[in-house]
This record gives sequence, structure tokens and C-alpha cells, in this order.
Amino acid sequence: MSEFLSGRLAGLSPYVPGEQPQERQYIKLNTNESPFPPSPLATFMARRQLSELNLYSDPDCRLLTGAACEALGINEDEIVFGNGSDEILNFAFAAFCDGGTGAVFPDITYGFYRVFADFYGINRTEIPLNSDFKIDPEGYAAAGKTVFIANPNAPTGIALSLRDIERIVESNSGNVVVIDEAYVDFGGQSALPLIRKYSNLLVVRTFSKSRSLAGGRLGFGIACPPIISDLNKVRFSTNPYNVNRMTMAAGAGAFADEEYFGKCVDEIKKNRNFITEKLKKLDFYVTDSSANFVFAKHATLSGDYICSALKERGILVRHFDGERIRDFNRITVGSAAEMEKLAETLEEIL
Ligand code: PMP
Repeated sequence: MSEFLSGRLAGLSPYVPGEQPQERQYIKLNTNESPFPPSPLATFMARRQLSELNLYSDPDCRLLTGAACEALGINEDEIVFGNGSDEILNFAFAAFCDGGTGAVFPDITYGFYRVFADFYGINRTEIPLNSDFKIDPEGYAAAGKTVFIANPNAPTGIALSLRDIERIVESNSGNVVVIDEAYVDFGGQSALPLIRKYSNLLVVRTFSKSRSLAGGRLGFGIACPPIISDLNKVRFSTNPYNVNRMTMAAGAGAFADEEYFGKCVDEIKKNRNFITEKLKKLDFYVTDSSANFVFAKHATLSGDYICSALKERGILVRHFDGERIRDFNRITVGSAAEMEKLAETLEEIL
């Protein structure tokens, strides 16, 4: 830390991303990426942008917006794009929380919520998950703060029903409710159909998981036009060219290739069933995941031991050191071959 760092940031603990090793070929099951390449249409369209890189990208993201409206049945003024959904979450913390309006989210959830709250000096309240790791919807009734809920939640993979989400949105009409649907394509119920019913609902989605574009960095928020306009105010005040030309084209291609998207999602769901059953046979407790990862704890071996033993054998998974979850590992669902290798390796370790 230099002597120049703002006092506001001196005590901040930044987000720690999952390891991205460059030196060795691991089976990477630690950051919930897709094991499949982007859609061929996405790569074709992105490549065509290379010779146009002398020009700024379109700050209105028109190519992408058109493709999104077609794919999702929404209007142009109901969507905003970001450099990953992390950026949309960043915009939401900047736009809808401050000294007066705090943020509320589960104690066990996506770690970036805590970091954004601390970065902006926002008062945060963390509501403990139930003993079975489920979100208690009652805890968020009339919360009086901006609500952030990942649905399905991470790292547990457990989803809330649309009814529960709607109750939370309805009872917080004086505050924005952000539903982070990074993993919804793998099994959860989306709150998208509610955006025209509730003017305080913001749904956040990403291309990083089900659309195989984690490295492209593309996410979006969907809400009623005034909420989108607020987010654009933050975007145009910080980084109007936040989505680069190649990513914008790749995103439009990915949206247009629904067939490829469907095949990838189906394959992940099949592999999730396979690895869940295998893990249970190997004496793991596995939460009921609706995401592209499973969250598993062994009957006798510690989470840390399993994570290190897998790494020594060339497989990366994610271990978190939180008090209630340190016996677990979050394991991304990969290809069928990767899941078979994981099962074999775990048998060997055990
Ligand atoms: N929300 C949740 C719940 C996540 O797990 C992640 C990925 N780590 C994100 C948002 C951010 O994803 P991205 O910025 O790649 O869209």
C-alpha cells in the first residue's frame, strides 16, 4: 500500500478470484466456466471485428440490444450491458445504495456483494442461510435496504422458487431488489417475467456460464426503463465503452445461436446428475444444485484436504474458508470426460 491510497480504501479486502493457472493444463473446475467453446456463430462474428478495432465500440450496444430483444422478448429500454455481470452489480451498488440505503444479502453468497458494499462504504446486513443452506425468504420481507439475492445461490447452488422471489420483490416496493441470475439457465426459475409488474426489480444475467463467454466479459441487467436509465447514468459517468467490439459481436452471435446454447445447457445438466450420484456413492453430502456446479462435503475428509489432493492430481476445485462451509468444495460441472476423471480421482484419494 502506498502512502497515497485513499483512507476509504485502506481497510478494504478485495475480491479474490478463483485461480487461473497459466503454467500447466489442469482440469479446471474452480471458476464455473463452461467446458465448451463459444458458439461457432459467436466466434465468427467476433473475428470480423478485429479489423475494426481502430474504432470505439458502440456505447449504445445496438447490435447486442437488438439480438437480446429478439432472444428475450424485451424492449430496448429494458436492458443494459456490462463488462461481465460484475459490472452491472457494481453499477447497482453505485446507483441504489448509499449511506442512507444499505444493502442486504445472505451471509453465504457471491463474495463480491460484500466487497462492493465495503468499496462504496455502504452499510451491509448479512442474513444467515438456514441450517440446510437455504435462503429464508421471510428474512428479506420489507427489508428497508437494497436486496441482493443470487438465484440459484452460490456457492450452494440452491434455488428459490419464483413465488418466494416475487414475495420478496413485492414486500420491498420502496427499494430495489436485485436478482442475480448468473446460473439460472441451468435449472432455476427466472424472475424476468416479473420486470413489467414490479418497478423495483432488477434481474442480472451473464454470458460467462451458459453461453461460454467468460473471457469475453459480458453481462446484462433487465428492468423497467427508469431503473435501466439509472444504471446507464452510472455507466456513462464511468465507462461508456464498457463492452468492446469483439465481445459485443460474440454476444450477438451467442444470442442468435439458441440451438448451441440449448445443447450445452442440456449436457451440463446431464453431467451434474452423473457427478451428483457418483459423489453420493463416495460418501459426500451434496446440496440440491440448480447451477453448473455442485457443493459437496465428505463424511470424513476435510474440504481443504480434498481440494489439495485433487490439485496435486491435476484437478482444480474451489474451497472457501468460511466457518460454515469449510468442509465443502464447490466443483464446476464440466464435460462428461472431466466428470469421469474427477470421479476416478476421488475414488483414488479416498
Ligand atoms: N454473480 C454470481 C453469483 C457469480 O458467481 C458470478 C461469477 N463469479 C458473477 C455474478 C459474475 O460473473 P461475470 O462477471 O463473469 O458475469
